[in-house]
Amino acid sequence: MSHFSTKAIHGGDHVKPTNDVISPIHITTTYSYSSNPDELVPGGLTDPTTLVYSRENHPNAAQVEAIVEAITGYPTIVYNSGLSAFNGLITHVNPKLVAIGQAYHGCHGILDIWKRNYGTREIDIDAGEEEGFASIGAGDLVHLETPVNPYGTYFDITMYAKKAHDRGALLSVDATFAPPPLLDAFKFGADIVMHSATKFFGGHSDLLAGLLLVKDQATKESLLLDRLVLGTNIANLESSLLVRSLRTFELRVARQAKSAEIIVKFLDENRTKFPQLDKLYHGSLQTDAFIATQYPNGHTPVFSIELDTEQHAKSFPSKLKLFHHATSLGGAESLIEWRAMSDDHISKKLLRLSIGLEDPRDLLIDLVNGLSGDGDVDALVEEIKKLSV
Ligand SMILES: *Cc1c(COP(=O)(O)O)cnc(C)c1O
Repeated sequence: MSHFSTKAIHGGDHVKPTNDVISPIHITTTYSYSSNPDELVPGGLTDPTTLVYSRENHPNAAQVEAIVEAITGYPTIVYNSGLSAFNGLITHVNPKLVAIGQAYHGCHGILDIWKRNYGTREIDIDAGEEEGFASIGAGDLVHLETPVNPYGTYFDITMYAKKAHDRGALLSVDATFAPPPLLDAFKFGADIVMHSATKFFGGHSDLLAGLLLVKDQATKESLLLDRLVLGTNIANLESSLLVRSLRTFELRVARQAKSAEIIVKFLDENRTKFPQLDKLYHGSLQTDAFIATQYPNGHTPVFSIELDTEQHAKSFPSKLKLFHHATSLGGAESLIEWRAMSDDHISKKLLRLSIGLEDPRDLLIDLVNGLSGDGDVDALVEEIKKLSV
């Protein structure tokens, strides 16, 4: 059982408590203790096969963790949302100083609570020694989001790992936009990797979940004990849906990555034909040397565009037939979002696109129709029909 897709399907078989091919959804919150008094041994709260109470553990959650551990090779803790995972991370590290840059607004929101409640200090991740980075030290946290929301562009993990480790701090990477097998942030120096599994791991826009991946079992056990009392374990139905999702994980991510690259390339090569298109952001358009090493298996399926005016950006989603105008990303259906709706720090000309599993030619025709305005789209549509996908 050595390859990704095989592990995504069979990596959790050994923790399945029944012989159903697909595990039933275990809706129980509590589990009977053994009727043999000799087997009544307190403890075992971090053992996935010790079932006591579902806030601690339950079979569907244990299966998710086993599968993600099989495909990534790292001890994994599953949570009831991506932000619960970040909360678990910051609670575990307990930093006095956090270096952070452009990152998901909810992670900044949690950090704001820490600043308010505990006096945690924050500096910019790109600050130099004189601008505050000199005071970061052992026990502190450098939190990097790459590929970064909402642009889908990349930061060099190796560079930030060195910056953190030179001062004894830890590097956490929010890799939500580049799920496995696109990026393995540990290879480039990450100490903890976080994902909102609501996005690509779930892949069907029907569950909330989060993941932390760590480097050793002791850290996992400490995080599990925190999760137990914070009450942030994933729920029964959601974890069962997530096991379902993981069965098609590799196929979905590979296809979404390839389609996004095709779409971005076409838009970029035909920029002059889209007068409203002012900016196009995507990792595939970056030329930095680290990218080929850090993204050997394809690019993030998320990218952003900026149009020439706020009015054009705001009305663009309503011109499209295949993209839902909605927040979130990573699902089978393509989404576009006028990002100002959910992020009040972002340009009002910006639209974020998440490429789903539709045929990329159909998605491109939809986008080109919306972008061309009164221009002649027939020639472009003919070109799109000839693309090999
Ligand atoms: C969605 C998202 C989160 C938060 O995850 P939830 O599952 O919505 O709590 C964190 N980071 C990034 C990059 C995200 O896209």
